[in-house]
Amino acid sequence: MRQVLLQPIPGIEDALTSLGRTHRLWLTTNGVPAHQRQKLQATHLTAAFDRVFVSGDVGAPKADPRFVAALRRALRGAQVCQVVGDSVTQDLQLAANGGWAATHICQPATCTAAPSPAPVAHTSSVAGMRCAC
Ligand SMILES: [Zn+2]
Repeated sequence: MRQVLLQPIPGIEDALTSLGRTHRLWLTTNGVPAHQRQKLQATHLTAAFDRVFVSGDVGAPKADPRFVAALRRALRGAQVCQVVGDSVTQDLQLAANGGWAATHICQPATCTAAPSPAPVAHTSSVAGMRCAC
């Protein structure tokens, strides 16, 4: 695995630490489970998350309604405050499928994400990220 390709978003460790004080943080990711977990370990972010859902384990990509169904079963009625991610087709679709608010990490001035049925905030930085709940 080429370490140089694994560059966490600047400020993500502080944002996760801050949000993790008051929230349970779950990571969703597409890919082969062993590879995704290796990437998490290589970036020292494993401990930041309470649960990790990899599409390869779930049997469907994040944008697929079956992924949301698997999350709902695991949530056991707990609420989702927001989905945070940089992909329109995966992260924002996951949020839309679940009816959950989202924060899109993007360049807000040029973002072309289509409106979503749930609220979507657009930000270029995770520094100081807060949850509105
Ligand atoms: Zn955006």
